[in-house]
Amino acid sequence: MTAQLGEPDPVEQRPIYLDYQATTPLDERVLTAMLPYLRENFGNPHSSTHAYGWQAEAALDIAREQVSALIGAAPGEVYFTSGATESNNTIIKGVMDVWGKVRPRLVTVCTEHKCVLESALYCQRQGYELVVLPVLADGIVDLDQVAEAVDERTALVSVMAVNNEIGVIQPLKEIGKIAKENGALFHSDIAQAFGKTPVDVNNLQLDLASISGHKIYGPKGIGAFYKRAGRATALSPLFSGGDQEAGLRSGTQAPALVAGLGMAAEIALAEMTADTEKSVGLSMRFKQRLFAALPGIQLNGHAEKRIASNLNLCFPGIDGELLLANIRSLALSSGAACASALTGPSYVLAALGLTETQAKSALRIGIGRFSTEVEIDQAVDVLVEAVTKLGGLRP
Ligand SMILES: *Cc1c(COP(=O)(O)O)cnc(C)c1O
Repeated sequence: MTAQLGEPDPVEQRPIYLDYQATTPLDERVLTAMLPYLRENFGNPHSSTHAYGWQAEAALDIAREQVSALIGAAPGEVYFTSGATESNNTIIKGVMDVWGKVRPRLVTVCTEHKCVLESALYCQRQGYELVVLPVLADGIVDLDQVAEAVDERTALVSVMAVNNEIGVIQPLKEIGKIAKENGALFHSDIAQAFGKTPVDVNNLQLDLASISGHKIYGPKGIGAFYKRAGRATALSPLFSGGDQEAGLRSGTQAPALVAGLGMAAEIALAEMTADTEKSVGLSMRFKQRLFAALPGIQLNGHAEKRIASNLNLCFPGIDGELLLANIRSLALSSGAACASALTGPSYVLAALGLTETQAKSALRIGIGRFSTEVEIDQAVDVLVEAVTKLGGLRP
């Protein structure tokens, strides 16, 4: 079982991939599940008069079951979109549009993905009341502050499950309880948790959740949202059109991408325990070796309330961009993929109270299904060599 990483470079020249939070390689089994819908089964799922259409629609039905099974939802509660960005936009803007007149308040957290924060700011510009909660120094939201912010005028509480930059897990169960006590809808961007750690929408009292295909070894350009059945979760769609996805997401669905997302979800469910054991083992190995060689490195975010596969580390006294330039045989990043094009330091690390210099010394190491011990050991060697070349850590 190997990853499909594209053709041109010979294997030995490819950088070691350690950026699994930005995206994941497509699992071969996912590609196999997609191919029929790129070839002979090319029908439009909305064509109800012939077999081509029925085949394509059947692909959507299967994937809805595969995705819903991973979060304890019913298949009819899953709606396909182009990704978690679209799902978050749809939910936040769509819920406020329906419920904001009677319940004007929207509560979220400052370390959310940009697509959540920007959607929330959009709602604020529409006249709704936005509360953006801070986090504690460990990256976890303070439940007392959640309880204070959420009131009977709150339409929606949106808190991510696992942070994409620092990997910390937010206390969704407790937040869900607060949301429900106040009659607010509860949404979570579960893009970094889905398929990696158990998420049960009923146990967490989630009304809405956003999912992405390419974070779980599926294709890019596909995602979904979960919306609890019933009137209470009514939301306005972003797109007007042919009323696909029960009117919540018009536009012809992409059966190949949907089949890929479905297969990726099925594999994630079957292999979650094995994947987790592997990433726990590899990240421990990485941490032990790196911390032993370079004492002074700091882990950002809560040490235990986290997923093992994401390690966000400060290299005191070293500029992260300079370090990256010296480790070209490793593919990793200094933070979120969408933010690393910008020059400013990470707003997530700033929210933990890190200074600009500290935040600029950080790298994110993402370990995943296709990572190996050999790669981890090489990565440690490369990092240690580069840090030494740059004069060592200066805590
Ligand atoms: C990747 C990611 C997104 C965006 O997902 P796309 O499918 O790429 O639009 C949103 N939220 C989180 C937490 C993510 O990790």
